[in-house]
Amino acid sequence: MGYNEGVERQRAKRKRVARMKRFIITTIAVFMLVTLCVMTFLVFEVVSLQRQVDVLSAKASVSTDVAESVEMVDDTYLDTVYQVDDTENLLEEGEIPLVYLTFDDGPSDNTDRILDILDDYNVKATFFVVGKDIETYGDQYRRIVDEGHSIGMHSFSHKYSEIYGSSDAFVSDYQKIHQLIFDTTGVDSKLYRFPGGSSNSLCNTSMSVFVDYLNSQNVKYYDWNVDVGDATPAAFSSAEIVDNVMRNVVKYKTSVILMHDASNKDATVEALPELIEALQQNGAMILPITDDTTVIHHTCVVQ
Ligand code: ZN
Repeated sequence: MGYNEGVERQRAKRKRVARMKRFIITTIAVFMLVTLCVMTFLVFEVVSLQRQVDVLSAKASVSTDVAESVEMVDDTYLDTVYQVDDTENLLEEGEIPLVYLTFDDGPSDNTDRILDILDDYNVKATFFVVGKDIETYGDQYRRIVDEGHSIGMHSFSHKYSEIYGSSDAFVSDYQKIHQLIFDTTGVDSKLYRFPGGSSNSLCNTSMSVFVDYLNSQNVKYYDWNVDVGDATPAAFSSAEIVDNVMRNVVKYKTSVILMHDASNKDATVEALPELIEALQQNGAMILPITDDTTVIHHTCVVQ
């Protein structure tokens, strides 16, 4: 091995080492760059996921509200399973139509507005109330009674599964709402409206049990034969609500009109003055439901 050969070998070795160093440095640099990119990407991902979580939890709380309000106002979703036998109830020439405005599901944040309007027109109505926090709505239960309106029961919980689960469940729910009305207003209510209408409970379960119980308590139940349509998801304008009612009222001796007293049912409140004026202009007599009011009952339709 000559001198030159040794030098060459040393040079080649240095080159290899230098290449190795470059390779290592490049690898580390690339690795750091990739890590940086991945970290940046992950940071963005976390931020965007956090945003999605916020949006979804906001949506979830909204849909809970909606679900609750639907539960409260789903009375007319079962329209297709009932009908009203109106052969005895058709208005004859020269007769004055009797109209009963009924408000279900209250008291609510709209109760005072409804009561103010009824007071403006000196009209009495019927409120089928449910069990509400007495601290919040005690005054509204009392105001309904103090101002001469009829107060009826519409169950305590308004939860179909709880009320209609068994006759014991029905009786226990009935006793709660009856007692609440009595303790709050002093009224021993003798009026009942089944959540969903009697067709909801009676067409699907053993009907006689609940009705027998109400009979044993001398309580009459009232369904409706005119529906303003405020329980359906479709938003009706005041004019449409008035039309819905007036089209039907002219047909019947007795019209029991279903409306809802709920915090999200502003359209019903807004339609009320126009509705009362239209009824009065057409010669209808607006009355609260009392013991001697003709009952309007749904009958089941076999599907
Ligand atoms: Zn209801």
